[in-house]
Amino acid sequence: MNFVDIVVLHASAGDGGGGCTSVHREKFKPLGGPDGGDGGRGGDVVLEVDPDVTTLIDFHFHPHQKATSGKPGAGNWRNGANGTDIVLRVPEGTVVKSTEGEILADLMGPGTRFMLAKGGRAGLGNASLATPKRKAPGFAELGEPGVTRDVTLEMKIVADVGLVGFPSAGKSSIIAVISAARPKIADYPFTTLVPNLGVVTVGDVIFTVADVPGLIPGASAGKGLGLEFLRHIERTKMLVHVIDSATMEPDRDPISDLAAIEAELSAYGGLEDRPRIVVLNKVDVPDGRELAEMVKVQIEEMGLKVLLCSAATREGVQELKYALSDMVSAARAAEPGPDATRIVLRPRAVDEAPFEIVMDEDVYVVQGGKPERWVMQTQFGNDEAVGYLADRLAKIGVEAKLLAMGAQPGASVRIGNWEFDWEPTGDDTDFRPTRRGEDARFDGR
Ligand code: GDP
Ligand code: MG
Repeated sequence: MNFVDIVVLHASAGDGGGGCTSVHREKFKPLGGPDGGDGGRGGDVVLEVDPDVTTLIDFHFHPHQKATSGKPGAGNWRNGANGTDIVLRVPEGTVVKSTEGEILADLMGPGTRFMLAKGGRAGLGNASLATPKRKAPGFAELGEPGVTRDVTLEMKIVADVGLVGFPSAGKSSIIAVISAARPKIADYPFTTLVPNLGVVTVGDVIFTVADVPGLIPGASAGKGLGLEFLRHIERTKMLVHVIDSATMEPDRDPISDLAAIEAELSAYGGLEDRPRIVVLNKVDVPDGRELAEMVKVQIEEMGLKVLLCSAATREGVQELKYALSDMVSAARAAEPGPDATRIVLRPRAVDEAPFEIVMDEDVYVVQGGKPERWVMQTQFGNDEAVGYLADRLAKIGVEAKLLAMGAQPGASVRIGNWEFDWEPTGDDTDFRPTRRGEDARFDGR
């Protein structure tokens, strides 16, 4: 079975554009200085909560989302254009998980954004890399690759009230008669079972109700489809047992139906603290009313509020709306704060410490956002660019740290995907980074 309220999304951000190496030429000025422009940054893939979006179905059909890359820089100081961001609109209550199941974000509140895949940084052109000391670099930075990330999106219906009960107890019918609006909440292409969501207005209290279709004994253990839908009521503030008091099935009656559904809820777990009421439905059927009146006291003795109603004739429907609105208001008043406090956004820290060096057997592994990025930005075929990298690493203390850790010349050092034999640029008594990146043609000018 495929349910579109869980989708796997493959997001690829755009790569950063590379910088350009170029020397400016004008008539009678053969060597005018570096004029290679910077690349453009890669486009991001971002999720944004949009209250008008109620389903993840678009991602079911388009699971691959790729932002465009930045354009490379060009001569004459022309910078490359930035890649275009992709903003994916997701429903309220979308949970973003890693493929390992770790919750990365719990998106609540219109406009809440989550950076799914960050675009690569642009590479600087040789014009930007020029300094008073390094007047004409003969190299440029490569663009950084964009992040690619696979995640699972889960949409949970954020309803205040969850309706539970056997199939055909009348859950959908009750939602239809108590609610003013019924937004379409999800498309389940491979089943006719669709959870219903209704918006109920009582005075100035507005709340949502959702049902759990397909709940049958064994659902919490994966039988039928109930488990798929049980997820939808995890966040409800209260539960309503809808019980068919006129069922013709011989081995069923309100008391055992209630016990069977309660057994499923407790096997699923996590819903024990939710207040509940019991609705004995279909009292328009004479046998149903008789049975309902009989069991009402018995259920009340269990400490539950009981209402008799008929979705067919609307008897008891007003009382039900008032009872729900009172309980929702009480639950809201008891809540610690607004929903927004539930946001779990966990952005990855960017460049917290400059670097760290750990041993992997006898290899010194340099870890850190900056060194790893610098390696990705290096044109390894260009000695000047490699020298520039070595200087940058020395400047933040990588060489000094290697020396302090006892690394010998020729030791293996790994940064990102790049491994090399270390040749210290200074000597160990008086370490001083050497200056690189000077275009020999400028000597003596
Ligand atoms: P659900 O599976 O719990 O959503 O149940 P439905 O709302 O789809 O209802 C199942 C059947 O019971 C439908 O044929 C409804 O018309 C019928 N039904 C629902 N409520 C009542 C009621 O109050 N009285 C009568 N006589 N039939 C009802
Ligand atoms: Mg139904």
